[in-house]
Amino acid sequence: MNPLSLLLVACLLAPAQIAKAWGFFAHERINRLAVFSLPPEMMVFFKPHIEYITQQATAPDKRRYMLAAEGARHYLDADHYGQPLFAAIPRSWSDALVKFTADTLQRYGILPWHLEKMMAQLTAAFQAGDGTRILRLASELGHYMGDAHVPLHACSNHNGQLTGQHGIHGLWESRIPELLGDEGFDYWTGRAGYIKNMRSFIWQVVTESALAADTVLRLEKKLSLRFPADQRYAYELRKGVLVRNYSAAYTKAYQHVLGDMVERRMRGSVAAIAACWYTAWVDAGQPPLNLLTIIQPDKLAIQRLDSLWRHGKIFDREH
Ligand SMILES: [Zn+2]
Repeated sequence: MNPLSLLLVACLLAPAQIAKAWGFFAHERINRLAVFSLPPEMMVFFKPHIEYITQQATAPDKRRYMLAAEGARHYLDADHYGQPLFAAIPRSWSDALVKFTADTLQRYGILPWHLEKMMAQLTAAFQAGDGTRILRLASELGHYMGDAHVPLHACSNHNGQLTGQHGIHGLWESRIPELLGDEGFDYWTGRAGYIKNMRSFIWQVVTESALAADTVLRLEKKLSLRFPADQRYAYELRKGVLVRNYSAAYTKAYQHVLGDMVERRMRGSVAAIAACWYTAWVDAGQPPLNLLTIIQPDKLAIQRLDSLWRHGKIFDREH
């Protein structure tokens, strides 16, 4: 077999690149930018740890390779509960448990309730003056709040698997930000605001996402009919491995028909995360953060998580 045929076979055998939630690129970018919206009293603690906050933006997704219960925290299949969307879903976790049982809730996702719980934990960490815990919770809360802004995290057809659009999840939340974010998106959100009613804020974010899911799916379906498959996909080298991905032309065309949706949801994530961190700090009584110390992150634990993510198998569906 000549080298060209070998390359062709390698192309055909190469698995499609499977994207992770918001793409690791976007999650890291979002967490990092949120730090710059904080007031100086918080910046003094968050800014020196910005590399950790950036890196840990993806920890919850990596944890899905070691913890079965992790997956449900990243989404809510709003449409599972019927129309009109959200009408039947109790906002309180205990009411939802009574109405639907823990099994059902875990199965169709617990994202908004988990966010509320994390806010309580972050506020408590600020009150306790526990620098290590503040950093970990703030970084991870950033991840879940980012997920809450992604339309396909609020919809059971989360990867287009029900409509022949497999891969759309990564196209929207990974491919577009990676290819077009840095050159064209305006991420500036201004200074973090205080959220008066956290529960209704969280549900508002998830509702907006769920309502946009139909547009995300419909526009890609329409676009795909105009693009033959060989123009929709391209092979590219990533870290020495040939992977199949959406072509640049197709990604740009999808971005064009979506308008500023991806940019808007990314910017919204940045603003929401900064506002959550700020709100938790205010609710904790605005404790001074300038003298907080942290226990250096456990590098071995981070490496272990990385290795599980790279070589392991995810416990539930891909997001
Ligand atoms: Zn996620």
